[in-house]
Amino acid sequence: MSLFPNPLRRKFLWQGNKDGKGYSFVNWETALRSKDRGELGFKNLKLQNESLLKKWLWRYTEERNALWKEVIIAKYGELNPWCTEITTEPYGVGAWRSIRNLWSQMETNLYIKVGSGTKTKFWKDAWIDQSPLRDLFPDLFQICGNPDANVGDCWTEQGWDLVFRRLLNDWEVERVAEILGMLGGVTINANATDRMLWKHSKDGLFLVNSAYRRGLQVMAGRPKHFWNYFWKGDIPTKVKCFTWLVIKRACLTQEVLQKKGRQLVPRCFLCNLTSETNSHLFLHCNYTAQIWNLFLSISNLN
Ligand SMILES: [Zn+2]
Repeated sequence: MSLFPNPLRRKFLWQGNKDGKGYSFVNWETALRSKDRGELGFKNLKLQNESLLKKWLWRYTEERNALWKEVIIAKYGELNPWCTEITTEPYGVGAWRSIRNLWSQMETNLYIKVGSGTKTKFWKDAWIDQSPLRDLFPDLFQICGNPDANVGDCWTEQGWDLVFRRLLNDWEVERVAEILGMLGGVTINANATDRMLWKHSKDGLFLVNSAYRRGLQVMAGRPKHFWNYFWKGDIPTKVKCFTWLVIKRACLTQEVLQKKGRQLVPRCFLCNLTSETNSHLFLHCNYTAQIWNLFLSISNLN
């Protein structure tokens, strides 16, 4: 499912003979930049291919009872209502594996539109804000009755009904009021399904072209001078090297080990709740988040 046409097209931009000795007129990345940035605007086929594959991830979130989806679920298992588990097959060229590997990119460009609230976790999914309520209200999450409750479970005809394991202190009552304030505009519709929508279109529908443009923006947003700052910064070298590995997603997380063919059950060894991906381990894991929060409060950045 991958295409390697760029080297062929690259030759058109190169001056030279059959020995391959020549000079490139422009840097290839420059040629790929879009025309409104004053460049050649060649289609980046790798990005185009990825955008087409992402369409399948989108269809997975949208379609119900589709045969192809049921086959995929039977083979790989569900991570949550929106995606399968990471594929663990070390051998062969699984089409779904190439597609599934794009989920972490895809996920950051989607948001949940709650219908009946039965597919969405009240505390753990980012459905009301960019961050899950768990991260916005860690104090209340600690004492909530059911950390895995669905949004629909917390809704009654009388309104929101949040259950806690003990009576609330005065300041906690104020925090609950904050949550209820955020939920003020939300209505639960028992007849509608929860959906994942694309952030970059007006109607929330995924379009391959929109995904392609988004990919170009992401590429353009990582200017080379970032790396100059990064490497010249006054930081211990071993910290820089490690950070570089994290940014490049090259640390030997279980996710990476799987891609390299190691057979294992992918569980975060800190929380044991979900797969050990780069972003989970270094950003989103409960334990890691506590370290970040500590760091931010010490540095007065909270
Ligand atoms: Zn974890």
